[in-house]
Amino acid sequence: MTDCIFCKIISGEIPSTTVYEDDQVKAFLDITQVTPGHTLVVPKKHVVDIFEYDEELAQAVFSRIPKIARALKNFDPRVKGVNIVNNNGEVAYQSVFHSHIHLLPRYTKEDGFKMTFTDNSKDYDSQALQAIATKISEQIKD
Ligand code: AMP
Ligand code: ZN
Repeated sequence: MTDCIFCKIISGEIPSTTVYEDDQVKAFLDITQVTPGHTLVVPKKHVVDIFEYDEELAQAVFSRIPKIARALKNFDPRVKGVNIVNNNGEVAYQSVFHSHIHLLPRYTKEDGFKMTFTDNSKDYDSQALQAIATKISEQIKD
């Protein structure tokens, strides 16, 4: 993909700060450093988002995540946890359309990273939940 910033990072055309690299995956520091050590893990193959992964690519990318997450947990004694975030689609805050996984070391609850989970449980009874689950299940394909 000639016009993709992450493809250019993978090819070395644009500089990056590499954390980990092998034949299928590259991990480099996110330029914004939401928290210190904020890292992006990207497949070397250009895919836009999670919807384009096949099982082989998923195995390549997601199998590397735990060891990189452990490195982020251990590189600084102040790190107490790690958030793993993958945005798919503009509505889901994706801004670079070459799939990537954010790994965000966490230092305190006020360290710059925030995520809101609204509790809407009062709006759903078990029947409503089952109706949603059934519709989703029907869409699961190999
Ligand atoms: P997202 O909003 O999930 O698509 O994340 C894209 C991320 O890519 C943002 O956190 C940006 O800071 C990061 N980013 C964009 N350009 C670069 C770059 N040249 N080097 C490192 N990170 C980048
Ligand atoms: Zn790309």
